[in-house]
Parts: sequence; C-alpha cells; structure tokens
Amino acid sequence: MRAAKLLEPNRPIFTGAPEPVIGADDVLIKVHSAGICGTDIHILKGEYEAHYPLIPGHEFSGEVAAVGSNVTRYRVGDRVTADPNVPCNRCYFCQRNEPNQCRNLRAIGVTGDGAFAEYVSAPEGNVFPIGDMPYASAALIEPLACVVWGLKQVEIQPGDSVVIFGAGPMGCLLVQAVKCAGAARIAVVDLEAWRLDLAASLGATETLVAGASLAKQLQTLEPYGFDVAADATGVPSVIEDMFAYAKPRGKVWVFGVAPVGARVGFVPYDVFRKDLKVIGSFAVNRTFPQSIALIQSGAVRVEPLISHHLPLEAFAEGLELAQRDPRRMKVQFDIA
Ligand SMILES: [Zn+2]
Ligand SMILES: [Zn+2]
Repeated sequence: MRAAKLLEPNRPIFTGAPEPVIGADDVLIKVHSAGICGTDIHILKGEYEAHYPLIPGHEFSGEVAAVGSNVTRYRVGDRVTADPNVPCNRCYFCQRNEPNQCRNLRAIGVTGDGAFAEYVSAPEGNVFPIGDMPYASAALIEPLACVVWGLKQVEIQPGDSVVIFGAGPMGCLLVQAVKCAGAARIAVVDLEAWRLDLAASLGATETLVAGASLAKQLQTLEPYGFDVAADATGVPSVIEDMFAYAKPRGKVWVFGVAPVGARVGFVPYDVFRKDLKVIGSFAVNRTFPQSIALIQSGAVRVEPLISHHLPLEAFAEGLELAQRDPRRMKVQFDIA
C-alpha cells in the first residue's frame, strides 16, 4: 500500500508498505481523510513519545475494509473513525478507569503505525460510526475529543470569562467548545488577524493581536483576570504568561502540547495567594461519542478549520506547510 513514513526524526518519506495484518478483534480501515496535528510536528522533530520508523497519523476517517473474526459491530463499507489511544485494560490506571493514563498506552500513529497510509488497523472497541458526516469533518473528531476531555476537567461554569491563546485549529475548537459549556466572554489571542477573524466567526467575543500592549488590553477587558486562561499554542513563553491572566480562584488550562522537557517559570506565591488551579488534559479519555455528537448537531463547526487538502504523495510538503505556511489551519491528506 501507499504510505508516508518517518524513518527517524526529520526523515519523512513517501513509500510503499505492507498492509496492516489485523487480529481477530481488529477492524481494517481504508483511510479517506487524515489530518496533520501539532503532535505530528513534535513527532517529526523527535520531541514526543513516538517509536520510529513510524507511519504517523492519528486523526482520521475512512471505510471499513475488513473485520477480524470476533468483530460484531462493523461490516465492510461502514463509514467510521477511531480513537487512536489503545489502553492495556490491566494496569493500575486502567483498573481505576483512567485509561488515558494507562502505563502501557499504545497510540495509533504514535507508538505504532497510523493513518498516513492507505489502510490502518484499530481494535473494534476504538472504532466509532460517523453516519453521513463528510470524511474530512470526521477526521477532526479526534482533536475535538481531546478538547472535550479537557473541558470535563476544567468544568467551565455558566457565565465564565475565558481567554484562549492561539487561534489555530485547536484554538478554534476550544472557542466553540467553551461556548457550548456556557462561557460568556471568550477572548482569543493570536499573531494573525485573519485567524482571529475566523475565531470571531466561530464565537470569540473579543480578538486580540499578540503584542506589547496585550497585558493592558486583557486587563481592560477583565480587571480581575479571567476565570479560565487556556493555552492552544504549546509555546512555553505563552504558557508562562497565562498565570498572570487568571482571576483569583481561576484556572490555568495547559492544553497545548509543549515540547517534552520544556520548562517555564511561575510565581508560587501568586498561585497560592490567588487560589489558582493548574489543569492539564492529555489526549482523549472516552470522549469520542461527545465529540461526534457536537459535530453532528452543528454545535461545533469543523469544516472552516481545514485549510489544505493534499495527496499523500505530498507528505513532506504537508509537514512543511503545517509548520510554516502563513495561511495554514488544518492540513489534511485525502488518501482513498
Ligand atoms: Zn492530535
Ligand atoms: Zn493500562
């Protein structure tokens, strides 16, 4: 089959690969759409918990091409997506029903081959039907499922004020999700005016171009700070600054993926004095059904977030685009 591979960090190639061999409990999916995620860029650079050589790709949709002998819920031709995270169901955290913290977590497209290929395999329990949702939209179910997991941790309250750093695909999903959760004021900060316009069209109530006067502008909006400050950039210096923008008793939501090992400074006295909560949220945690419901109902719009459709042959070019094109949002490969 046609496949895109990272032989090792910073060595992307388009190549041929054997089709995945499925086990009795697995579903073979013929991939239609697969998106490049910020995590894929970390994997490209060797900044994440990936195993090489690797076919990346963990945000995808497609049709069932074959099923293992124990599979009962799917047949060939079904339109599906899959949660890429495969917990062991045996370890301490799995036994506590905290599968995203599984000690032996496998992830399709991270620790094992993923969806930047003609076919990908997933356990039946990880596969979800997508109904008549377009394949391109369905490839955004996974990132939205990450947002939903974070939202469950952060517990936005009705009327909350939220400031979101970053108006990329994740920032724009956060805007819509916190709005669904009841946020009243949703301020978004980015470097690019056109991305901020997109965020505004999706529900941001204020948009601010990052710059020297940002602190002052945010303070004018919310003199006591925001109930929630959320990062969707993964940039350590941005994460560092968020502490200053959270209101007393507020929350600092570390959602963006910073490089493994990156460090930031914060003032412990301020966290103490302001009763701050610092909240992380890692990947997906049984939140695919909610994500699918949000997209199917129209509560969250994902099609405006897709900026580029490329053939899989343009793998290396897609990775470049996803890092450097000034007009990039979600870059997807159209594979089938
Ligand atoms: Zn991702
Ligand atoms: Zn486990």
